[in-house]
Order: sequence, then C-alpha cells, then structure tokens
Amino acid sequence: MNFKDYVTIVEDWPKEGIRFKDITTLMDNGPAFKAAVDEIVAYAKEQEVDVIVGPEARGFIVGCPVSYALEVGFAPVRKEGKLPRETIKVDYGLEYGSDVLTIHKDAIKPGQRVLFVDDLLATGGTVEATIDLVEQLGGEVVGCAFLIELSYLNGREKLKDYDILKLMEY
Ligand code: AMP
Repeated sequence: MNFKDYVTIVEDWPKEGIRFKDITTLMDNGPAFKAAVDEIVAYAKEQEVDVIVGPEARGFIVGCPVSYALEVGFAPVRKEGKLPRETIKVDYGLEYGSDVLTIHKDAIKPGQRVLFVDDLLATGGTVEATIDLVEQLGGEVVGCAFLIELSYLNGREKLKDYDILKLMEY
C-alpha cells in the first residue's frame, strides 16, 4: 500500500513555510489506517517490546492501537500540567516552537523494552526528549516508529544509537 496517497499536505500551516503532513486523511480510511498500524505492530513484535510510549496527541492515535493489538501497556507523554500524578519532565525543541514534556514517574519500570511511536519525525526534538524521559526511568528504548520521516530535517542524526521504522519519507 502506498501510504502517501492518504496523507494530505497542507501548505503554510500552522506557520508560513511549514508543509504540514496531515494524517487525518489516512486515519479516515479504515483499511489504510489498519495497514499502517499493522506494520508498526509487526515491528514491535520483532523488537519484543514491553510497553509503547507516545507523545500527545498524534502519538496517542498511532501508538494506542499498537498497544491494544499487542496487549502491552501504553504510556502517554504530555505537555506540562496535564498528567495528574508525580511526573518527571524535560525541555525540548521542535520544528515550530519549544515546550516541556512530562511522563508519570511510574509509567516505565526499570529494564522494560520500550517502543517510541509518533506520527512524524521532524527535527527529532520530541523523540529525543521522550527517550531522555524513558531512560531516566530505567527503560530501554528498543525502537522508534513513525508513519512519516521528514528526512531533510535530519532528525535521524539524534537517533544514531536507536533503531528506526518509518512508513513514509519526504
Ligand atoms: P520534531 O520534534 O521536530 O521531530 O517534531 C515532531 C512532532 O511535531 C511530531 O509529533 C509531529 O506531530 C509534529 N510535526 C512537526 N513537523 C510537522 C509537519 N511538517 N507536519 C506534521 N506534523 C509535524
């Protein structure tokens, strides 16, 4: 399946100069969305993951069905002030802006094999910050799965020590 057929490119959103890759048109199509999730599920099986970690909001959309299919847990990574219990946090930068990411302190158990899942790899700031959180909690990141890699932003440079799966590249 050519997943790119289902992604909509929105010019100059949310800012001039950004070519936003809108995956809602992929999610809209049941068979295409399932096929995309299935590829990540197969990869997660190979990597023998114990838990999926995904950043809000599109990391939840892509990561939760993988977690459901494998019957493993899903740990949400959120902006500051959104998670109700004790968290750890990290500052990060992204293609358009900067922010703080947090995770519940008990979301990852030491030694767990963790798969990072998100819709898109841009500069790699989000995945790098999330890996930092996971490793602070003693988790082992055994893979990073994305629907889309924007290879011209070189996010992969930040992931030299990690295994990457991407379904599409721009
Ligand atoms: P980064 O931290 O720079 O790798 O940015 C990754 C995050 O920002 C992902 O969670 C994406 O959802 C979002 N993002 C960044 N650039 C784009 C883009 N051009 N189109 C869609 N989403 C993007």
